[in-house]
Amino acid sequence: MTAPFIRKNDQVYVRQGKDKGKTGKVLAVDPDKGRALVEGVGLVKHFIRPDRSKNVQGGIMEKESKVPLSRLMLYCPECAQGVRARAKKLGDGTRTRVCAKCGVAFETGK
Ligand SMILES: [Zn+2]
Repeated sequence: MTAPFIRKNDQVYVRQGKDKGKTGKVLAVDPDKGRALVEGVGLVKHFIRPDRSKNVQGGIMEKESKVPLSRLMLYCPECAQGVRARAKKLGDGTRTRVCAKCGVAFETGK
C-alpha cells in the first residue's frame, strides 16, 4: 500500500519532479485522478490576454497545476522532512494518521 494519506490542508513535501524538495499546503485533492493541487507547486505559466472592457491587464500569470499524489509525501514538522504516514486507531475508535518515523499525529483541531 503506497497510497499516501493526503488530504486538503495537509502540509506536503514534493519528492519528485521539477518541484522536488518544496513543501506546500494541499489546496484540493482529486482522488479519482490521483492528483492534488498544492500551493506553490506545479506552477505553469498562463498567458493572459488584455481585456479593456474587464479592466484586465495582459501578461503572464503563474498558476498551480495538479501534481500526482505519488510525488507527494506528508511533511512532518517534527522530522522536518517528508515522511510516510501510518493509520492509527485511537481509543475512541477514530482513525488518525501519524508519522511513521516519530509518531506525531497529523490531524489537528479534531
Ligand atoms: Zn515525524
